[in-house]
Amino acid sequence: MKEILQKIEEAEYVLVGLGQAFDMENLLEANPEYGKVWEQLQENNAPWLLPYVEERFRIQYLNKMEEEIRQGLNNLASVLEKKSYFVVSSSTSPIPAQIPWKKMLLKKERYVSPCGDFRKKQCLDGCEEGITEVTETDRENLRHCYEELRAGKFLAPNLGKCPKCGKNMILNNVYAAKYDEKGYLENWITYQTWLQNTLNHKLVLLEIGEGNRFPSIIKNPFQRIALFQQKADLYCIDGEQNPIAWLLSLC
Ligand SMILES: [Zn+2]
Repeated sequence: MKEILQKIEEAEYVLVGLGQAFDMENLLEANPEYGKVWEQLQENNAPWLLPYVEERFRIQYLNKMEEEIRQGLNNLASVLEKKSYFVVSSSTSPIPAQIPWKKMLLKKERYVSPCGDFRKKQCLDGCEEGITEVTETDRENLRHCYEELRAGKFLAPNLGKCPKCGKNMILNNVYAAKYDEKGYLENWITYQTWLQNTLNHKLVLLEIGEGNRFPSIIKNPFQRIALFQQKADLYCIDGEQNPIAWLLSLC
């Protein structure tokens, strides 16, 4: 911990990767109710509801840990306050997006979550015109769908129709069969531009709770950067070193 904080202090840039530990899927999978709901989603070709369903389960069963994650990530934001940093998340939990990460010039965000979650919706068929924000009415429909799921019934939530082809709208995340990646593209471009500027500068890479679910987003590129950039140091906080406890101990 001390060594990492020292390295961050000396670094010009800090790149943070937040992984599947923030979804707490391993804890959710221990809950038989969660297993039943997941099965229903698969049977009904609606795995894109998973990020929403997981958040409902976390609120119900793992609320204390959710608050710890929020606190821990707030601690991290404070530690990084004076640095040029960027946060990439492969988690589908909405919490990392809710942390007040500081903004860049022109109010550009320092955060990207390429897997999506349930803040945006898209056309089932991935039409370009489809991506919009999930509305309060959509949220009510999602809540209703979740209640039905818990009662053992599947009822696809009404999220409106695609303005182009008229097909149903679904949640914009990696579990959609035709995932529309434009949902995160703007922030991804900001990230790539930021990353280019780190070349030949002191860079610290922090991989926190990454796991092995989507290695192409964080694990593999971070390792490549650490290998090819002489001034880059990579630290993995995972496994035995509990990522949430580590974040909580930052302040
Ligand atoms: Zn469409």
